[in-house]
Amino acid sequence: MNEDSVATRFYLIKERIRKAALSCGRDPSGIKLVAVSKTVPVERIQEAIAAGATILGENYVQEARAKIESLGADSISWHFIGHLQTNKAKYAVRLFDLIHSVDSLKLAQELDKRAKGIGKVQDILIQVNLSREMTKSGIDPKETIDLIRSIAPLENVSIRGLMTIPPYFNDPERARPFFRALKELRALIVEENIPNVQMTELSMGMTGDFETAISEEATIVRIGTAIFGKRPER
Ligand SMILES: *Cc1c(COP(=O)(O)O)cnc(C)c1O
Repeated sequence: MNEDSVATRFYLIKERIRKAALSCGRDPSGIKLVAVSKTVPVERIQEAIAAGATILGENYVQEARAKIESLGADSISWHFIGHLQTNKAKYAVRLFDLIHSVDSLKLAQELDKRAKGIGKVQDILIQVNLSREMTKSGIDPKETIDLIRSIAPLENVSIRGLMTIPPYFNDPERARPFFRALKELRALIVEENIPNVQMTELSMGMTGDFETAISEEATIVRIGTAIFGKRPER
């Protein structure tokens, strides 16, 4: 097998996830791997699927739609991890099993309405902005509980947990405070016991820092570059 093939990279990542889990006393099966396939052509995604990828993560609705049409959604679970514009909600509910990036009531209401229209309950995560970078999406941690309280009564969306994207650091240890903060925020929300809200998932950790995220209880890691190689600039 080609050392640089998508399949080899995929196996290596699975192995690193397993080791990271075991080294902090966790069951590796409690960690889901989202293979992030934005900008990656269908043929290379197929290599990852052949190697065992079952969850694919996309950032752009149009791009995902074309890929889902050609690869299908029977054996693949498609997740949306990018910034979602309200006017794309009607497509998103048809295409994605989990939307990681809900950060406003307005977006949640639109997803609720569109999901209702197709008889679906849309699973979502709440994206939290822990780095206070103006450019990044996500709700301020101080406003997160209020947002969750306002989304919880919507019948056709179901909150499953939290997601965050820390700033990029060369040293993954520097991302640890962000992962820990998301874990602590989850604990606070759990204590609130809000009906219709589950806090099962912590979506955090990417190519450069997923092992650190796993040691802070990530349940979903989102990995692109380490599986598919460097993406073109866009
Ligand atoms: C692109 C992207 C990833 C994957 O990043 P890599 O560093 O390539 O692993 C993960 N999460 C989100 C939200 C992304 O946009």
